[in-house]
Amino acid sequence: MSASRLMRAVRVTEFGAPSVLKLSRDVSVPQPGSKQVRQVLIRVHACGVNPVETYIRAGTYARKPPLPFILGSDVAGVVETVGEGVTAVKAGDRVFTTATESGGYAEFTVAPDDSVHKLPDALDFTQGAAVGIPYFTAVRALVHKAHVKAGETVLIHGASGGVGVAACQLARAMGLTVLGTAGTPDGMELVLKNGAHQAFNHREEGYTDKIMKATEGKGVDVIVEMLSNVNLSKDLQMVAQGGRITVVGARGPIEINPRDTMSKESSIIGVALFFATSEEKKESAALLYSGMEAGWLRPVVGSKYPLDKVAQAHHDIIESPGAAGKIVLTM
Ligand code: NAP
Repeated sequence: MSASRLMRAVRVTEFGAPSVLKLSRDVSVPQPGSKQVRQVLIRVHACGVNPVETYIRAGTYARKPPLPFILGSDVAGVVETVGEGVTAVKAGDRVFTTATESGGYAEFTVAPDDSVHKLPDALDFTQGAAVGIPYFTAVRALVHKAHVKAGETVLIHGASGGVGVAACQLARAMGLTVLGTAGTPDGMELVLKNGAHQAFNHREEGYTDKIMKATEGKGVDVIVEMLSNVNLSKDLQMVAQGGRITVVGARGPIEINPRDTMSKESSIIGVALFFATSEEKKESAALLYSGMEAGWLRPVVGSKYPLDKVAQAHHDIIESPGAAGKIVLTM
């Protein structure tokens, strides 16, 4: 393949509002190198849009990549070519990724081979693009951080989006009693269809009382929290004796009373997918792969946007009137 082959890609050349996402038609197709990292070149069919990409684009995230850059870690597509030393996948394989090196908002991307996984036939490319960050975060929160056990009760606080749907499906498959929240009736319906035993509306006055009632006043053993800056204080009230609250999403500060943790010896645990070790990543991939084979792992794709509407996708994921699964870009 010639190094001058060109592709369409969305490059960020300055930090700022969604409008900084510009579609270019003359970006060079990346090549799988023969460096220390074994690389795979993938023809991208779909790429997941995650909230973290909006923070990186805005320049407000802890990690600021050097400009210009292409966002996107969760692609699904077909292997075009493989670099030196790659044996796990070959040209023509359907795959999804959990990381890329050259960026996924593009027609082609290069990814390290340990982040490339075969995509089972049961999942289409848009579903494949919904696996990476959402499902690996769900495993990190529930398994690696909260150490959930079958028979426990979990509240997925914000269950209608990418991570929430993944967490509901995983928790249900692991034998937990699953309570989930959404902000609209349609979102609640979606949550119930994806593993939750009961759904609640987090925009409704008094919904936390209903959750407590559903646990007969005992509270929930584990909370997976998507909007901690709004809910952490409420979570401390809803958690059971010895319960664990995993902080997955937080978009600002909140005041809590630390005494609330003492009265129940509850724990607040931060979650950052970024810190997953290679051992944990392998374990997560194995668990999720078994879910794809068994059929409990079925990503729900909400809105699909063509690559040239990426700015709209970035706007909508943050200003959503109500999530309905995962937002993905299609090439
Ligand atoms: P998403 O698809 O945009 O979903 C957002 C979810 O938050 C929806 O279910 C939404 O429900 C819910 N929500 C809105 N208002 C809420 C409220 N008052 N209380 C509870 N939930 C509320 O985003 P995502 O991909 O699932 O990610 C969720 C959060 O986790 C984001 O902040 C993201 O940055 C973060 N995250 C962190 C990590 C990590 O490693 N720590 C990894 C992945 C994601 P409705 O729209 O139905 O109201």
